[in-house]
Amino acid sequence: MKAIRVHQFGPPEVLQLETLPEPMPGAGQVLVRVKAAGVNPVDTYIRAGTYGTLPALPFIPGSDAAGVVEAVGEQVPEWRVGDRVYIGGTVAGRAHGAYAELAVCDRRQVHRLNDRVSFEQGAAVNVPYATAYRALIQKAHAQPGEMVLIHGASGGVGVAAVQLALALGLRVIATAGSERGLHIVREQGAHVVLDHRQANYLDPIADLTAGRGVDIILEMLANVNLALDLSVLGKNGRVAVIGNRGSIEINPREIMRREASVTGVFLFNATPEELLSIHAALEAGLANGTLHPVIGQQFALADAARAHETILKPGACGKIVLVP
Ligand code: NAP
Repeated sequence: MKAIRVHQFGPPEVLQLETLPEPMPGAGQVLVRVKAAGVNPVDTYIRAGTYGTLPALPFIPGSDAAGVVEAVGEQVPEWRVGDRVYIGGTVAGRAHGAYAELAVCDRRQVHRLNDRVSFEQGAAVNVPYATAYRALIQKAHAQPGEMVLIHGASGGVGVAAVQLALALGLRVIATAGSERGLHIVREQGAHVVLDHRQANYLDPIADLTAGRGVDIILEMLANVNLALDLSVLGKNGRVAVIGNRGSIEINPREIMRREASVTGVFLFNATPEELLSIHAALEAGLANGTLHPVIGQQFALADAARAHETILKPGACGKIVLVP
């Protein structure tokens, strides 16, 4: 099979297309023929060697993909050859990933992909939608009728968060930083869309909330925004930090006087039970059409290096996927 392999940590060029033996599923495992693989920012941190936990070299990157079941091992009664699926990780974790024509998954890492969802969209589900769900429901405990600011809504996680929040009956204020990104966020149905490249762009929040501030903030770039976030947060507000690329100074008094909470989100900390619950919700949302991943750009598998360069540039517009 063709796969991208990394033999040394480094710049995008270390992502090389190779021909490798076809893997076989063991007991309790499923072999998936990958039709599209999702590219996440974390894949770039791992490739560069800057992430907290790193796989042994060489490795195949990627945790997200969609495709069809090619073969099933023993003790996998629920899957049949030909089933449409999306995956959330692979058996060897970060050592044998999804940037490949075939991926071996534990049976619990395989989830049903409704016919209305394309394989490219399926590849956009796992990390982005699971993270958005974990942040909004499991960490920020969102309730219908609350107001959420999704700070950085044009990317993979942001689009997912907008769709989930709307499905739950929240009022959604969402930001993006390019014309195309703003357009995509508007298309998802966000109630108010703001441009995070403009000066004072959060000023309208005071009027929009009658001076109370928002209930929840999902933050994609905390090192830039956290201090500002606290200033537009309401009493008992919750900030869920999803993305961060540096440090920032905040005034803890802003948290104190609101009795607010700032909570971290780390999808890899989700327990098996929490993941079951997350994917049950995502499968249902994909099946009933409330969740519909937006694909910004597609690259051939051989172009993985270009996909890694693109995902770290400004101007996100949905999800980047690789097509083998
Ligand atoms: P992505 O598709 O590359 O999107 C990045 C988003 O950040 C875009 O919406 C971008 O908007 C926005 N952004 C850029 N500058 C911003 C600013 N000054 N203020 C607010 N937003 C800004 O990435 P993603 O997959 O959605 O992931 C988003 C972040 O979450 C990344 O840092 C990623 O590593 C992290 N993440 C964390 C977890 C976890 O478990 N904690 C899981 C998944 C992702 P424009 O491009 O329109 O400016």
